[in-house]
Amino acid sequence: MIGFFGGSFDPVHYGHLKIACAIKKELKLKQLFLMPCKTPVHKNKLYFSSRQRLEMLTLACIEFSDLQIDTREIDRQSPSYTIETLKHIQSDYPNEEIFLIIGQDSFDTLTTWKDYQKFSDYVSLVVLPRSSSSQQSNTNTDTYFAQTPLIDISSTQIRSIVSSITPTGKMNSQKLSGLLPKNIIQYIQDL
Ligand code: ATP
Repeated sequence: MIGFFGGSFDPVHYGHLKIACAIKKELKLKQLFLMPCKTPVHKNKLYFSSRQRLEMLTLACIEFSDLQIDTREIDRQSPSYTIETLKHIQSDYPNEEIFLIIGQDSFDTLTTWKDYQKFSDYVSLVVLPRSSSSQQSNTNTDTYFAQTPLIDISSTQIRSIVSSITPTGKMNSQKLSGLLPKNIIQYIQDL
């Protein structure tokens, strides 16, 4: 059993990382892949470049050595729909049970995703609770609602701190402490 946790990771934070470890344990997954997307179909332009998002994920996996990165979406020339990614993953792992892991806020928009009814042909869906989101909702998919804890951190919150420059021209890195790994805070400061 292996899991794929997709997202923009713009940037990756402890909400993603700690919860990814928790769901890996809860489902007893052999491997858990963080899978950064190229340009998210459901979001506007990203703050960090693909290369920077990938470098930050790589730094994150030093502290979270239980996690791996799957670069198939970010490596692709053009953005792709999740359904295409799932077909490729299944053909790469024909003998594995595969889980697609998403947060409740992403799940709330699932019915707008292309061919979402066909996801269950390729994977089982796992939904992580998220503090900003309401309750579970029903779809036709075969869905598991995880018991993982709530961690109230978002990339939006981090980007807003990063873009607020102090009077001395320095980013207030103190405010980022505890939201993402130290080596990523350093990476952002050095950009
Ligand atoms: P943004 O603030 O830019 O919307 P985000 O923090 O939601 O970003 P994404 O990279 O968009 O991060 O998230 C990837 C996946 O991880 C999504 O399915 C999202 O729901 C989930 N996720 C993000 N943060 C958390 C969190 N703190 N707890 C549980 N799931 C999360």
